[in-house]
Amino acid sequence: MSEITKTNKKIILTGDRPTGRLHLGHYVGSLKRRVELQNSKTYDEIYIMIADAQALTDNADKPEKVRQNVTEVALDYLACGLDPKLSTLFIQSQIAELTELAFYYLNLVTVARLQRNPTVKAESIARGFGSGIPVGFFTYPVSQTADITAFDATTVPVGEDQLPMLEQAREIVRSFNGIYGDTLVEPKELLPENSVCGRLPGTDGTAKMSKSLGNCIYLSDSADEVKSKIMSMYTDPNHIKVEDKGNTKDNPVFIYLDAFSKSGDFQKYLPDYANLAELKAHYERGGLGDVKVKRFLNSVLQETLEPLRIRRAEFQKDIGGVYDMLKAGCERARETAARTTARVKKAMKIDYFG
Ligand code: ATP
Ligand code: MG
Repeated sequence: MSEITKTNKKIILTGDRPTGRLHLGHYVGSLKRRVELQNSKTYDEIYIMIADAQALTDNADKPEKVRQNVTEVALDYLACGLDPKLSTLFIQSQIAELTELAFYYLNLVTVARLQRNPTVKAESIARGFGSGIPVGFFTYPVSQTADITAFDATTVPVGEDQLPMLEQAREIVRSFNGIYGDTLVEPKELLPENSVCGRLPGTDGTAKMSKSLGNCIYLSDSADEVKSKIMSMYTDPNHIKVEDKGNTKDNPVFIYLDAFSKSGDFQKYLPDYANLAELKAHYERGGLGDVKVKRFLNSVLQETLEPLRIRRAEFQKDIGGVYDMLKAGCERARETAARTTARVKKAMKIDYFG
């Protein structure tokens, strides 16, 4: 009975909340890797989810915002090179089984455990929830476990902020399998190889570029917007005059260069320096102004973003086609989730009618 047993396939599930357009943090934290893995064909199945139901957990009063951003995120995906022929792109709310699974998993998690989840804690503080935290938001790690396990995902490419979510998912899987028998697959996170990419800071120097914090360079920003955001970026506040010694470690301009610059960029755009180490050394000993570094960063980022902008504009001409693609993705995703849910219900002995 193959439809009720686990598979041995290598499967990816990952996604993004449609709370805004996607930004550089998404790109280096997860998107770029997804596209590489997709094109390497080393995975049997790839599911990419637009997490609209999760977005509603802290945007319940903003349905229009979430709806509009589903289209924006889909366009960002296509712009980055996610290919519907190779990856199943779908919308979370259209797969009712995900809600069903989450409902059963809720019984396997305590309130105290969720309260200890560092990501839930940090995000609740950032959103100013206090004791007014919506139950849906509070329990979103459980819903995320449903999303991951519904597709038997072995691998979840994510940024660092998602590590506590993966830990929580594994605990739920172990608890489920312990009680009901070996049913669910334990997922593993896949973090970016370059550690600065796991949590790209905001243009304002805060710890994480995040839609909710308004400190983003979006993948779809125009060339002028990107340039003006870079030129007004936070740097080292003590590096006032060009001669001053500078700090490159907590300086987002240098962190972005760590994340995005390639060896050929120096020869092309800043031939006075052989590599990033030399540029950093000059900034640290003094005598290198912010504007020069920012101009270089601008050249590097424009080169990365230009092909994405061109592809996005092409897909934008046919939004109907984008929706047809998502609809087909939802249908495929639903079939998989339904098979897993049948397996789960059988294990839980709630499969009364065969
Ligand atoms: P929100 O503020 O609405 O939570 P977000 O900007 O945090 O939005 P998500 O949709 O929550 O974005 O995150 C989607 C994926 O992108 C996750 O895998 C997350 O780890 C990754 N990610 C988000 N921001 C960053 C960042 N600044 N650096 C690296 N990865 C990131
Ligand atoms: Mg987030």
